[in-house]
Amino acid sequence: MLNLILFGPPGAGKGTQSEKIIAKYNLIHLSTGDLLRSEIQAGTELGLQAKTLMDKGILVPDEVVIGMIDNKLKEHRSAAGFIFDGFPRTVKQAEALDNLLASYNEGISVMVALSVDDDELLARLLNRGKTSGRPDDQNEELIAKRIQEYNSKTKPVADYYQEQGKFVAINGIGEIDFIFEEISNAIEAA
Ligand code: ADP
Repeated sequence: MLNLILFGPPGAGKGTQSEKIIAKYNLIHLSTGDLLRSEIQAGTELGLQAKTLMDKGILVPDEVVIGMIDNKLKEHRSAAGFIFDGFPRTVKQAEALDNLLASYNEGISVMVALSVDDDELLARLLNRGKTSGRPDDQNEELIAKRIQEYNSKTKPVADYYQEQGKFVAINGIGEIDFIFEEISNAIEAA
């Protein structure tokens, strides 16, 4: 199996690159942000609880997203592999993911991190907010909060995979196709 984590701050281009990776490598896309937004759409209890946090730019509890990922792994037993997008976002989530995969005798193949500076992120997210309809993309304070959550809680996840020798950083500023080529190279080297 090819199990890839696509890592980076909000607005780094994970969604855009995910689509291209899925098409090329036939992986199942697991985006916890998308899964949470589906729960909100469906009006579930989980969705209602998640929404109050997401609307403030705060991470939802680890147990919630770990449970969602657990369900999806069970649903797709015969997949060629997975691309994890927006997950794991804390070291606790990373440990849980490693344990879940280990229970299938699997593991993470590589973490590819897209680096983009904060000014560019803010510009991209405000721009996305004009068309995405996402409330968390439409307010500068909220975007700053998400970037702050990323810096304090999520960045350490990169060190976690670096210690396992699985971390590859790629410049997330430039031509989409060029960035995709760099990601493909990292996947094929893994
Ligand atoms: P972005 O990375 O652009 O902020 P996402 O769609 O990945 O967008 O996430 C939107 C929001 O959903 C986050 O701000 C957070 O509140 C919540 N969320 C998504 N994934 C996770 C996760 N793995 N752990 C905790 N909260 C999450």
